Amino acid sequence: MNIDLLKRLCETPGIPGREERVRELIESEIEGLFDDIAIDGMGSLICTRDPRAPRRGASKKKTTSRRSSSSTDADPTRIALLCHMDEIGFYVSHIDDKGFIRVNPAGGFDTRNLFSRRMLVCTKNHGDIHAVMNPGGRPIHIATEEDKKKVPEVKEFMIDTGLPAAQVKKMVRIGDMVVTNEPFLEMGDKLVSKCLDNRIACWLGIEAVRAIEQSGVGHKAQINVVFTTQEEVGLRGALTSSFAIMPDIAIGVDTTLSCDTPGVPSEETVTIQGQGVALGVMDGYMIADHTLTDELEAVGDKKGIPTQRSILPRGGQDGGAAQRTGVGCRAAALLVGLRYIHTVTEMAHKRDLKAGLDLLTAWLPGVK
Ligand SMILES: [Zn+2]
Repeated sequence: MNIDLLKRLCETPGIPGREERVRELIESEIEGLFDDIAIDGMGSLICTRDPRAPRRGASKKKTTSRRSSSSTDADPTRIALLCHMDEIGFYVSHIDDKGFIRVNPAGGFDTRNLFSRRMLVCTKNHGDIHAVMNPGGRPIHIATEEDKKKVPEVKEFMIDTGLPAAQVKKMVRIGDMVVTNEPFLEMGDKLVSKCLDNRIACWLGIEAVRAIEQSGVGHKAQINVVFTTQEEVGLRGALTSSFAIMPDIAIGVDTTLSCDTPGVPSEETVTIQGQGVALGVMDGYMIADHTLTDELEAVGDKKGIPTQRSILPRGGQDGGAAQRTGVGCRAAALLVGLRYIHTVTEMAHKRDLKAGLDLLTAWLPGVK
């Protein structure tokens, strides 16, 4: 497995609305894998691979927008794999007279996980500035009993660059991107990063098409890998980019919960790490097409690729937006379970990641 690519994807900052650095990295990685590459008005990267078999050395054509089209009998089946590029993060909202930065969240943070964080403030003209984040208030030595019980809100956290206020005000603008800054780690069979959600899907989208290209097996359907924007704030990029494709089949490729850890009852586990890639039956935004889920599961069973079924009571993924494009399409969710999701220690099992890659690689060429 190309773990080096996953590491580079995870260590590149990109919050909702500021995915451009991740997109540039992806563009440099997919050279020769697609026939057409377009960026839509919301910044999603739409990569289209026409059916030919066998096929080598795709021409690279880059356009800036795409017209939507409607399906005819002669058209190949259009598949969209939706892989969101954004990670949860912050926008600078205020700089006070002492140089402390306040932020507005972009995505769902649990503030219990935000104490004592290393951060990067990504500026336009002064590079990425190191900083730390903590809530305002007293440290343990002088905290009151009431202080100790309190879970602060995001607005109570501040970013400290350690720089004089005048310098901060010169370098940092309202609206600059702020991300957590933690290294990618490989720990035995586990992978740890601050944004496996959802660079794992970006990795899967690239590596599945690369594997199909290298095998020379060909495919009958048109494969669109869409690296979408702004998923973490409500599946926004997936909606517009799906209109450019008008898919017949949409797969939301994403992460989900693995609560197979102490303190969570077994009926709330969602997925169990190491038991295979998850097929999402239902979440807060989508009920998967049950025949498509069965089809994916059958490919897994036939090829010996481990899969598990999962239901997420709240939250969702891009498949939910794509499913409702135009007259609607068949949609499913292909998910990798993460422990400690939406923290800087998101943890995946390599076996589940490999199962996701193997399932996409086995299923895509067989779609008629
Ligand atoms: Zn996600």
